[in-house]
Amino acid sequence: MAKYLFNPPEVQSLPIQGKEERFPINRLFFVGRNYHAHAVEMGRPVDKSVERPFYFTKSRDTLVQSGATVAYPPETQNYHFEMELVVVIGKPGFRVKAENAHEIIYGYATGLDMTRRDLQLVARDKGRPWDLGKDVEQSSVSSEVVPMEGVIIDQGEIALKVNGETKQKSDVNKLIWNVREIIADLSLFYHLQPGDLIYTGTPEGVNAVVAGDRITGYVAGVGEVALTVGAAE
Ligand code: MN
Repeated sequence: MAKYLFNPPEVQSLPIQGKEERFPINRLFFVGRNYHAHAVEMGRPVDKSVERPFYFTKSRDTLVQSGATVAYPPETQNYHFEMELVVVIGKPGFRVKAENAHEIIYGYATGLDMTRRDLQLVARDKGRPWDLGKDVEQSSVSSEVVPMEGVIIDQGEIALKVNGETKQKSDVNKLIWNVREIIADLSLFYHLQPGDLIYTGTPEGVNAVVAGDRITGYVAGVGEVALTVGAAE
C-alpha cells in the first residue's frame, strides 16, 4: 500500500437498490440541452439534423446522495434545479454502437443537476468554461442506483416539485438524443468505465430555489430523488 502525505479523498459511492454493496462512482457526465422545450427556454434551440450532443463534466466530489440537506452555495443569486434521468454504466465501452448500448448499462438513477444559472449564463455568453456555474460543490444529487442490466429506458414521466408544487413535468420520450444515442456519441470521446454516471439532461421548467426549499423529483419506473436547500454558509 502506498503511503500518502495526507488521506486521499474518499471513494464516492451510491447505495444500490436490493444490495448490500455500494456502487463506486468514477466520472460524472452531463448532457446539455437535451429536451427541445428546455433548449428553447435557455434561448438556444437545437436542430438535431445539424448538431451533435454536447457535454460537460463535474468533479465526482460534487456527488450528493438523495435526501441530503446542502447549504445554499456561495457566489450565486440564482441557484437552479434540473431534474434528470441518470444512466449508470456497468461495463467498459469505447465507440459503442447505438444498437449495442444496452450492453454496458448497469441501471439507472434519478438525479438533480443543480446549477448556478447566473454564473453559467455569464460563462456561456462570454465563451468561457461552465465550471463555476456547473461544477458546484454538492450539486450532483443522485438517488440510489436501480439495477436494470441491459435495459434501455425510452419513455416514462419525469417530474419535479418544489415544496409540493410541480415545476417540471415531461417525459423521457422527449429526449432529443436518447439513451442509445448518448452512449454511442459519448463513447466516441471517452472510454466509458464502470462507475460512470451520465445525467441525460433536463426538461423545461427549470427555476431558482431559496434556502428552506424542499425539492422532490421522480422518473417513472426508476424512483425518487430529494434535496433540501439549507441556509448559505
Ligand atoms: Mn443538466
